[in-house]
Amino acid sequence: RIVYLNGQWLPEDEAKVSIFDRGYTFADAIYEVTAVIGGKLLDYPGHVTRLKRSLEAIGIPMPVGENELLDLHHEIVAKNGVDEGLIYLQVSRGAEDRNFLYSEDLKPTFSMFTQAFPVLANPKVESGITVVSMPDGRWVNRQIKTVQLLYSSLAKMEAKKQGADDVIFVEDGFITEASSANFHIITRAGVLVTRHLSNALLHGITRGSVLGLAGKADLQFEERAFSVEEALDAAEAFVTSATNFVMPVVSIDGKAIGSGRPGASTLKLREIYIADKLAHAIG
Ligand code: PLP
Repeated sequence: RIVYLNGQWLPEDEAKVSIFDRGYTFADAIYEVTAVIGGKLLDYPGHVTRLKRSLEAIGIPMPVGENELLDLHHEIVAKNGVDEGLIYLQVSRGAEDRNFLYSEDLKPTFSMFTQAFPVLANPKVESGITVVSMPDGRWVNRQIKTVQLLYSSLAKMEAKKQGADDVIFVEDGFITEASSANFHIITRAGVLVTRHLSNALLHGITRGSVLGLAGKADLQFEERAFSVEEALDAAEAFVTSATNFVMPVVSIDGKAIGSGRPGASTLKLREIYIADKLAHAIG
């Protein structure tokens, strides 16, 4: 692969970051993941808006201007011949001697790479995914997309040990989200319920797009907190994320949701989402 690092295009083995980089020592970095289909970028404006918001929240400057950022996205897709997959970008505060107090004028470390894989033909859509619930032990500012992902990674490994595909986090009796996706239910009355935005969860770009398209799937939606019990009583459940789009969830803690199979409205929403995003993809 050809990767991008601080203004340079390099073979992946030649891209080197300092061991003093604060992304490495303090997880002091922001990231974004954008899906690519047919060489085009999905939901790109939303990802850039959130990138700016996350950087601003922790006081890291945008490393390049918006036009250049879009050009870099196009270039990295072209240089790597990516048809389907993702673009990962990360901006850390920069490198200096390890100290909890950082210099305000550090030069950010900005890197990008691609991962090619079939995002559309995801075999998991047929079966749906299973999840287990666990306490949400992450820090409180989950609306900021930092690389501080250890708790989520350990939790997902634990879920795998228990034979499940993913984890849903629970705080004060209510579901926040999955390890790297937002979690939603469709009630028996046909209402899409998703947790309201706050610092308890990442404000998923796919989540926002899906809510905008709910009407097309004949679904009303409500934004509010809901419990595992309510989710188990729902007709359908699904998660959303940039590379999973709309992914059916068929059980929680070994108990089936609805029929225990991917729900019809969920699958319809997935189709509508993909069609809409392809129609508006940038490339
Ligand atoms: N929630 C968390 C914790 C995530 O890490 C992600 C994506 O990586 C999402 C939700 C979904 O966000 P998006 O739809 O913007 O990919």
